Amino acid sequence: MQLKFYNSLTRRVEPFEPIESGKAGLYTCGPTVYNFAHIGNFRAYAFEDILHRTLEYAGLKLVHVMNLTDVDDKTIRDSRACGAELRQYTQRFKDAFFEDLATLSIKPATVYPAATDHIPEMIALIERLFAAGVAYKAPDGCVYFSVSKFPEYGKLAHLDRSGMRSGVRISNDEYAKDDVGDFALWKAWDENDGAVKWDSPWGPGRPGWHIECSAMSMKYLGESFDLHTGGIDNLFPHHENEIAQAEAATGKRFVSTWMHCAHLRVNGEKMSKSLGNFYTLRDLTAMGWSGREIRYVLIAAHYRQPLNFAFDALSAARTALSRIDEFTARMKEIGGGFAAPECAPDWVKRHVDAFDAALCDDLNTPLALAAVFSLVNDGNRLAEGGEMAASGAAAALAAISRMDAVLGVLEKPAAAIPPEVLALLDERTKARAAKDWAASDRLRDEIAALGWVVKDTRDGPRLTAR
Ligand code: AMP
Ligand code: ZN
Repeated sequence: MQLKFYNSLTRRVEPFEPIESGKAGLYTCGPTVYNFAHIGNFRAYAFEDILHRTLEYAGLKLVHVMNLTDVDDKTIRDSRACGAELRQYTQRFKDAFFEDLATLSIKPATVYPAATDHIPEMIALIERLFAAGVAYKAPDGCVYFSVSKFPEYGKLAHLDRSGMRSGVRISNDEYAKDDVGDFALWKAWDENDGAVKWDSPWGPGRPGWHIECSAMSMKYLGESFDLHTGGIDNLFPHHENEIAQAEAATGKRFVSTWMHCAHLRVNGEKMSKSLGNFYTLRDLTAMGWSGREIRYVLIAAHYRQPLNFAFDALSAARTALSRIDEFTARMKEIGGGFAAPECAPDWVKRHVDAFDAALCDDLNTPLALAAVFSLVNDGNRLAEGGEMAASGAAAALAAISRMDAVLGVLEKPAAAIPPEVLALLDERTKARAAKDWAASDRLRDEIAALGWVVKDTRDGPRLTAR
């Protein structure tokens, strides 16, 4: 499979050529763990999950690094506001983040480095920047990166360098393009930081947000690696600054392909904590929406297209997924087991090929889903005409399973069997051993009323969720 991705650096769709053949190194900017992530954040993580799964689907051996920003302006501000120690405060939100990833069937990264565990690596990188002549300590005690000393500054965001205010310093982690200037690498301790500080050659303090990602990505992926991603708001200043820090220190190209997803919006505005227009994943699951339905909404639009959040989209996802569930149930009835892809009939292969082509073309998930529904439509038509062979149904199921390795929504997540159902099943097994068929039938109906179907097989009874 020849993958092609839109590279934010060149602003072109390009063939993806890994640095080392057969492998891929991917760094994704992870959450700032000062609160529950909202579904706008999860749009970014869902896009990155599609990328992760596509790289593996294409047969590449992937190393995926996602950082946890557990020290920055916001984590310090909020932990202090509630009188908690920083590590204790962020731990709660790290745990919640991993639970949320599981709810959305997002595959785990290879490693999740936390910023507070990598302060020595950040200090070492800042020392390299001093050696390269691009870092300086200012009268406020902080260390800054001098953008005028790095001629390529602005290449990712395509900044007009003539407007740059060299020597103007910005100590906030986040700022707009109009405020471009020298940014903080190391922030000197002040009383707002409370107990949060580390020793450094420049005095006690803490790292700036941007140096965290340059240091941790290079530690786990090497000085040059394949892919780096985030939401579009990460492009400037965060990723621009990451490039400056890494390339000024190493003299090598930092990342080959930069990919960014467009925002999840609400009434035309970015969903964000600061605007207060957000839903956390937990808000939506408490309303009865499943992780599977929410994931469907997040991946159904192309990642570079802005997506407006609306409850109608969740209802549409519910309908679309039940159509797929009905189809797979029907194919199971006709075909039973699964089949090898090479034995698939042409009507199945055609859709799998269309699916692969869509993914290869810059992760075109809407087209990939269209291929899934074309398969469903063709399969239903054949089944309705009585023309579906068991082998065809098995091939269709195999195709759904294969496509789901990337989409992660087509197959119903296996439901845990509730203890009361297991107890009834146990009673039924005993009734059957005693040849009490009336009791066995009654128990089967009771189990069915709880949403489970019992099938008696040679290996004993088998339960499936209805
Ligand atoms: P943060 O925790 O703010 O650093 O954000 C974590 C990730 O979510 C980053 O990749 C952001 O770019 C991304 N992000 C934040 N808000 C949105 C949004 N409304 N839509 C899509 N991605 C977002
Ligand atoms: Zn980052």
